[in-house]
Amino acid sequence: MPQSRLEGPYSPFLAKWIVRPRSAGVFVLANAAGEVLYVGASGYDLGNRIEQMGAPARYARFYFEYAGSRDEVYRQECNYYHRFNPPDNRSHPAVPAGSRGVCPVEGCPSSLSWLSGN
Ligand SMILES: [Zn+2]
Repeated sequence: MPQSRLEGPYSPFLAKWIVRPRSAGVFVLANAAGEVLYVGASGYDLGNRIEQMGAPARYARFYFEYAGSRDEVYRQECNYYHRFNPPDNRSHPAVPAGSRGVCPVEGCPSSLSWLSGN
């Protein structure tokens, strides 16, 4: 069960009404048992993104957290990605356009390859 600053759980079908329009942030999709299955983010329209990604029936609930900047979106997305290791994420979160983001999680191979220029 997600903790910290994540708000929820809510039904993904209600995302548009719960999340402020055109806000940036991160979200977590979970099944009815509360197991985290997917971690995502949006720098433009968090509610819309949750609604899109949360449509499949296996995602019974979502949690979310606002972020103040693109860099913060990426840092939070990475933190939750590493914390939950969600099975539906095929790969590490990509650095968003306009962000100088580096994964904040110590020992993450993604941040090492970023720093070495690969
Ligand atoms: Zn990482």
